[in-house]
Amino acid sequence: MISGPSGVGKGTLRKALFETVEGLEYSISCTTREPREGETEGVDYNFISHERFRELVEQGSFLEWAEVHGNLYGTLKENVERILADGRDAVLEIDVQGALQVKGSMPEAVLVFILPPSEEELRNRLDRRGTEKEEDLEGRLKEARNEMLLSARYDHLVVNDDLDRALEALRKIIESYRDPGQTP
Ligand code: ADP
Ligand code: 5GP
Repeated sequence: MISGPSGVGKGTLRKALFETVEGLEYSISCTTREPREGETEGVDYNFISHERFRELVEQGSFLEWAEVHGNLYGTLKENVERILADGRDAVLEIDVQGALQVKGSMPEAVLVFILPPSEEELRNRLDRRGTEKEEDLEGRLKEARNEMLLSARYDHLVVNDDLDRALEALRKIIESYRDPGQTP
């Protein structure tokens, strides 16, 4: 499971990781957030209504779910079960609350937290991505501080300074679990 503050580069790293490491599958989350420009239904997220999200919560369909930045996000149990049954490793890009819920029910899950090189650089990246209004951006930066406090409970921390270096660190972490002779 990959977590980290908004704008740290999780999506970018995840996409690069899939081009580098075989046998991974991304678990597509459900969200009540509006799609951003360029996002595709069923690829980036399953974009669903609040009502449908509530139904899925009541039916116990989520492995975990959480409210993040005012929207609801959740991982469907059936998605993760299908990926694991296919013999692949499921990659979840979810927030800290969700990741700790999954660790509680699946202790074998591996938690990786992506850190920005600095708070200033995090702000620059969010600015450059240009997908958030100023007030949302401030909210995401404030939330980033809370999330970073919880990163101490993660199995691995990776600083996303240089993309290639961070990618290599992630690749090594995955390989070390597949071949326990290696240390990340
Ligand atoms: P997240 O998924 O964590 O919210 P994104 O993957 O959308 O973050 O990245 C946020 C912005 O930062 C994007 O514009 C991306 O191109 C840029 N970015 C990601 N990694 C790096 C890096 N190592 N160095 C510089 N910019 C980066
Ligand atoms: P964004 O709106 O930028 O796509 O994502 C905002 C935050 O929601 C990120 O921290 C992301 O990791 C988290 N998130 C995405 N999907 C899920 C999910 O299924 N569950 C939880 N708990 N968090 C998620």
